Amino acid sequence: MAKRVVVIGGGIGGLTTAALLAQRGYRVQLFEQAAQLGGCASTFQRRGFTFDVGATQVAGLEPGGIHAEIFAALQLPPPPATPCDPACAVYLPGETTPINVWRSRDRWQLERQRHFPHSERFWQGLEQLFAISWRFQQRQPILPPPQRF
Ligand SMILES: Cc1cc2nc3c(=O)[nH]c(=O)nc-3n(C[C@H](O)[C@H](O)[C@H](O)COP(=O)(O)OP(=O)(O)OC[C@H]3O[C@@H](n4cnc5c(N)ncnc54)[C@H](O)[C@@H]3O)c2cc1C
Repeated sequence: MAKRVVVIGGGIGGLTTAALLAQRGYRVQLFEQAAQLGGCASTFQRRGFTFDVGATQVAGLEPGGIHAEIFAALQLPPPPATPCDPACAVYLPGETTPINVWRSRDRWQLERQRHFPHSERFWQGLEQLFAISWRFQQRQPILPPPQRF
């Protein structure tokens, strides 16, 4: 008899957990309170328009990325995807020209220096935080970190 598992919540976290457990042979039942799955990564319709609830971009589909590893564990091909370039186009209030976050680090550096002169120290600080954050994430930590007494 396969063990039964109940997963509460059909956001990306619950769906991923349910899929991985089912793939390992558990009998999984997933409960979602909303009318559709996806949680913060879902969409909703109003007056003929479709809006993202939250997430608009997916990272980690590249070889070795977290989503690539999950699809490999599920023995499924990852969905077709193309890199966004720019990753984001931000329009500040009253502006008609976007601030483009380019994939190329050099191009992004030039872009931000053009929009925010004399702010390079701030961006370099962010780069350091990102580097630490990526290193931490690549260790596939369990989050939130367990409390140690
Ligand atoms: C505005 C915004 C933009 C974002 N942009 C990005 C992005 O571009 N890229 C990215 O990677 N991430 C982005 N994120 C983050 C990402 O969307 C979330 O981290 C992720 O979707 C969270 O998934 P989750 O499964 O942990 O939680 P949730 O998506 O919150 O899912 C929880 C689910 O559980 C259900 N639930 C809760 N309680 C119960 C209950 N008692 N019974 C049944 N069901 C229950 C909820 O209805 C919900 O569907 C963004 C988030 C926001 C808010």
